[in-house]
Amino acid sequence: MTKKTECVICDEVRVVDEDEICAECHEENEADTADELRAAGIDPTDAPVIIAAEIARRVFG
Ligand SMILES: [Zn+2]
Repeated sequence: MTKKTECVICDEVRVVDEDEICAECHEENEADTADELRAAGIDPTDAPVIIAAEIARRVFG
């Protein structure tokens, strides 16, 4: 389901997802997250469950 409303990040009226973030900002967000994961030595192309496990190991290990 798509709707058009103000994106919470760029304030442009665009088609947004359930978090009210437009596709453009979403891509930027994902790129940022991938960069952060890489900086932490985690492969961002790993399955989310593997990344979550790796992060948990770092936080709780
Ligand atoms: Zn946006």
